[in-house]
Amino acid sequence: MALQGKVALVTGAASGIGEQTAKKLAADGAAVVIADLNLANAQKVADSIVDAGGKAIAVSMDVTSEDAVNAGIEETVAKLGGIDVLVSNAGVQIVAPIEEYAYADWKKMLAIHLDGAFLTTKAAIKHMYASGKGGSIIYMGSVHSHEASKLKSAYVTAKHGLLGLARVVAKEGGPRGVRANVVCPGFVRTPLVEKQIPEQAKALGISEEDVVKNVMLKETVDGEFTTVADVANTVAFLAGFESNALTGQSVVVSHGWFMQ
Ligand code: NAD
Repeated sequence: MALQGKVALVTGAASGIGEQTAKKLAADGAAVVIADLNLANAQKVADSIVDAGGKAIAVSMDVTSEDAVNAGIEETVAKLGGIDVLVSNAGVQIVAPIEEYAYADWKKMLAIHLDGAFLTTKAAIKHMYASGKGGSIIYMGSVHSHEASKLKSAYVTAKHGLLGLARVVAKEGGPRGVRANVVCPGFVRTPLVEKQIPEQAKALGISEEDVVKNVMLKETVDGEFTTVADVANTVAFLAGFESNALTGQSVVVSHGWFMQ
């Protein structure tokens, strides 16, 4: 119960990696806030945590809206007494070759991944400073924080950007006990990836099997997907790591796809 007495807010926690992360943080003792666009699914995740004996609430939050982010953080502090851990995880994927990439889609991608990370950090860090206890901020990066792939101009740009944000937050927050790190998963079979398999097959003119074998998992050491549990356990480790020895880093969880 390394996180006993802590409050953790996870964005995009109604599905996939965020859902598993919220469940793991709750199992480790944290009171968790399931923050998502999809309030109905967020409430189901919160209910399942409470049914399992944990503490959780759901809040409706569009991470691209400053008002919604501020309201969700204020609700968290009012109901749970503070915020010790922020996991900025909400994300989507839109794939297209750059000459066909709609400008509106580019802006949407940067808004969700980068504006969302900035707005949640800005709102949460004030409370981490004010409590005098500091905290841990974890951004959901990707192997695409380090590597490029075809068709993913906006995603790769945004995920690289999170490394810069985490390093600045690590420097600003360090003297006040706030750590910032990036977790960088390889491919994980969540709805975000399931959607991409047929899209990439079409765009690249190859079969869906080839997308999995020769695009997604080609560079791994064993041809295996990373799991939601692998990622959630890494986030929990960083959330519970109580010194500035580990800050401003990226931790890659990818079956060896990217080695640093
Ligand atoms: P997912 O589609 O299963 O879940 C994403 C969640 O984010 C959904 O519940 C969705 O409602 C929510 N969301 C989307 N836009 C939002 C917004 N504007 N405000 C609040 N919530 C919003 O996806 P996932 O695979 O679990 O992805 C989670 C994160 O992990 C993303 O940042 C993604 O880029 C990253 N990631 C995923 C993989 C992978 O292979 N699945 C690999 C590396 C990184």
